[in-house]
Amino acid sequence: MRLYNSLTRRVEPFQSLDPGVVRMYTCGPTVYDVAHIGNFRTFLAEDLLKRFLLWTGMKVHHVKNLTDIDDRTIARANREGVSLRDLTDHYAALFFEDMKTLNCLPADEYPRATDHIPEMLALVARMEHNGHTYLSQGSVYFRVASLPEYGALCTVDLSGNLDGARVDSDHYDKESARDFVLWKGAKEREPSWESPWGPGRPGWHLECSAMSAKYLGEVFDLHTGGVDLVFPHHENEIAQSRGATGKSPARHWMHMEHLLVNGEKMSKSLGNFYTLRDLLEKGADPMALRYLLLSVSYRKQLNFTFEALDAAKAALGRLRDFAARMEGAVPASEPNPGLAQAIEGHRRAFKEALEDDLNSAVALSALFDALRACNTAMDAGAFCTASQTSMAGFLADFEAVFGIPLKVAHSLEAEVEALIAKRQEARKAKDFKEADRIRDDLKARGILLEDGPQGVRWKKS
Ligand code: AMP
Ligand code: ZN
Repeated sequence: MRLYNSLTRRVEPFQSLDPGVVRMYTCGPTVYDVAHIGNFRTFLAEDLLKRFLLWTGMKVHHVKNLTDIDDRTIARANREGVSLRDLTDHYAALFFEDMKTLNCLPADEYPRATDHIPEMLALVARMEHNGHTYLSQGSVYFRVASLPEYGALCTVDLSGNLDGARVDSDHYDKESARDFVLWKGAKEREPSWESPWGPGRPGWHLECSAMSAKYLGEVFDLHTGGVDLVFPHHENEIAQSRGATGKSPARHWMHMEHLLVNGEKMSKSLGNFYTLRDLLEKGADPMALRYLLLSVSYRKQLNFTFEALDAAKAALGRLRDFAARMEGAVPASEPNPGLAQAIEGHRRAFKEALEDDLNSAVALSALFDALRACNTAMDAGAFCTASQTSMAGFLADFEAVFGIPLKVAHSLEAEVEALIAKRQEARKAKDFKEADRIRDDLKARGILLEDGPQGVRWKKS
């Protein structure tokens, strides 16, 4: 497949170092609060890529870190009077729950920064050994001027960021405003660890360099994150790895464009965000949200609106209705080779679009082209067995790659209705214990029953 590489600024063939296995590192969430759906746009695009690679027969070794120490996690733990671990455990658990609700495949490892202090200190020692660091007021800094290759991702103009220019470098206790902190000297009310440079805590960039090397090796295939991470986070990660190992860590860098609200980046600091939980409370179908966030190429910004969420729900509804219609369709006795061939053509277009820098929008339009052709044929009684087999395969491709099951809604409905009928029978037989057990079982699965004059109704809690 071909992917845009932020390092070369080109769409280029994506090939893994070891044939058949992709080693992939994702900058994961900072677990100080519930993630918003902008964060999930990035995580879902990664999930689409991962599912696509798996679907093409590749293995994927996926590592996603949890940033459990930074200014935000420390400030919140202090404000709430809980330990850093308790706070970050809580938000990590909510993050995993949301990932599951959105049907994201789990990573193979979720390393936490605070569990990898020795690895980070070893990396600083290597950078120090190679002459890239200096100590100032208890903190260790990376001297950017010591690395001529600095700026590999090169997305910002560093000329205004030189010593003495524009940025007041004194303010940072650094030799140069471009330098960045590796190890922050201990401060009051902040967790700290012992180190050869005195007590302190790691800077944010350090964790990803140390943990990616530990789990995936010093050079791996793919590094991903949102576009806001290009600078300074990823630029500095590359500098750290080059400073320690002499090698650039990832061959390929993939950055996801932002989810916007009214033209502005969705973010906690602007307060213009929705969490998955907000949307579920408003009755949203998480699979419709998944569909929406994946329906636009990851290289394009996407503006979130409730109209767009409704449109995604409608599009997904069409797919689900079609899947149900097709399942119940009685195939025409005459073969329709033209249709079967057309479906295979759309199916190829779907795969080719994804191979072309994960162009999900074009892939989905190929699916709908096939769906329209099938509906027309069904209306005309010309939907043959070969077409049905081919289209069933296409829907299965979609389900596997987009991670959106098409039959869930129907089978859940049927299952709940069957249990309600069983409960009615139990009540009729005055077996109230059994009736209550069924009601409680459903409740535990998030289904609430309401007994009314028109019979039993149910809703998702
Ligand atoms: P954080 O929890 O702040 O470390 O962010 C987790 C991930 O979400 C990072 O890859 C960010 O780049 C990404 N991200 C943050 N805001 C947005 C947004 N509005 N749209 C898409 N991705 C985002
Ligand atoms: Zn990172």
